[in-house]
Amino acid sequence: MGHLIPFLELANRLVLHHNLQATLFVVGTGSSSAEFALLQKPSPVNIIPLPHASSSLDSNAPIFNIISSMMTASFPFLRSSIAAANPRPVALIVDLFGTPALSIAHELGMLGFVFMTTSAWFLSLSFFYPSFDKSMVDAHVDNHDPLVIPGCTPVRFENTIEVFELNQKEVYVGFGSFASELGTADGILSNTWQDLEPTTLKALSEAGTLGKGKVNEVPIFPIGPLTSNGDPTLESEVLKWLDRQPDESVIYVSFGSGGTLREEQITELAWGLEMSQQRFVWVIRPPAGTESMGTFFTAGRGSSGDDWASEFLPEGFIKRTKEVGLVIPMWGPQAEILSHRSVRGFVTHCGWNSSLESIVNGVAMVTWPLYAEQKMNAAVLTEEVGVAVRVRAEGDGLVKRKEIENKVRMIMEGKEGGGIRERVKGLKISGEKAVTKGGSSYNSLARVASECDIFRRRRDGGCYS
Ligand code: UDP
Repeated sequence: MGHLIPFLELANRLVLHHNLQATLFVVGTGSSSAEFALLQKPSPVNIIPLPHASSSLDSNAPIFNIISSMMTASFPFLRSSIAAANPRPVALIVDLFGTPALSIAHELGMLGFVFMTTSAWFLSLSFFYPSFDKSMVDAHVDNHDPLVIPGCTPVRFENTIEVFELNQKEVYVGFGSFASELGTADGILSNTWQDLEPTTLKALSEAGTLGKGKVNEVPIFPIGPLTSNGDPTLESEVLKWLDRQPDESVIYVSFGSGGTLREEQITELAWGLEMSQQRFVWVIRPPAGTESMGTFFTAGRGSSGDDWASEFLPEGFIKRTKEVGLVIPMWGPQAEILSHRSVRGFVTHCGWNSSLESIVNGVAMVTWPLYAEQKMNAAVLTEEVGVAVRVRAEGDGLVKRKEIENKVRMIMEGKEGGGIRERVKGLKISGEKAVTKGGSSYNSLARVASECDIFRRRRDGGCYS
């Protein structure tokens, strides 16, 4: 969902603002009702599900490898669909897992772009990765030395990506093969904006001038924040509940489309929320495994009722918090929740979409990164732009109830939280300006559309070789 939602938004904007036609090919998991609902919504975009290619890997393989094997299995169908299209499309835009398909675009006489649905900082790590000295990567993975990215803030090991934390050769060989294809793109679109990550965007735009480890010059188009606006007509229990709460009085808790906590951690979170004495909405999933992690293939499956959640919540929790809290099983209408006037704070796993959705609604965050590149995102939010505070786990990996209580209170009522809440409201305005007609991101996407147009004229006029 973290890739699907911004891709659909990108396709919508290309059609509605930039006069293009768009087809969205979806490699679905086939198990998510949220994915199904999203694709059923009326849209100006032509949506084509790619036949569900179940991964040949066992389900305990790292998520990165599972997704990449599903993507690769779908390429022959993608190729034949594009080859059969009349008129021939002008450009193919893929995500990081789709970079091997850039060669299909080039072979079929099209432009090939990548849309990175993450921060520019993660993009820069991926972009420069093929030029990194192996010894530096080894020192990062084995000795936890910072990873130095040219022109960007170095990545301390506590903020590193899951690929390096896992320290499994096949995972980072896989990551490297996707990353190395970035250099073959005709441009990279990034879901960020100039004022959010100025230093990193400067480093990326100067990439071609770097000496040693020089990478191909690829234009970078910051086009964010691209987020879904939510549906103002949506009716749901949670929105009705929020309607009954005072302005800016609720903290929303959710770990994205795939985040799950271990049972002990759910207990600590429940106590932390209760002890904070704040109003809350919590999207809850059953515990999975012994770690807090991502289990994308169960997320979004329907489950309902307090009884279901009572099984793994502390005894009496739902009853005791009935007046101030609401627990929603599995999935909530996040875009609508975050834009509700009663929501002031968000305990988030720091998926990039969740982070942006919080910023565009001026909602301050408590960051609780779990997997993928979420620790880098947490560092951007807390250290670079100061719109969040981060929870800290103890040695056993558990974030304790007192820590949760303190950080939630800080964001919802504390003095320190006041500055954070003010900054996020400022950033909301800067994000709005960036995507409004004439703003930096709007213009950036207009440049992509115009490059497509120039390319199409040359190609279809017979000048393309
Ligand atoms: N989301 C939602 N309801 C939920 C959980 C997630 O609507 O209960 C949406 C959320 O608004 C966001 C996306 O799913 O747009 C998750 O993307 P993100 O990048 O935050 O995290 P990921 O799921 O990729 O880890």
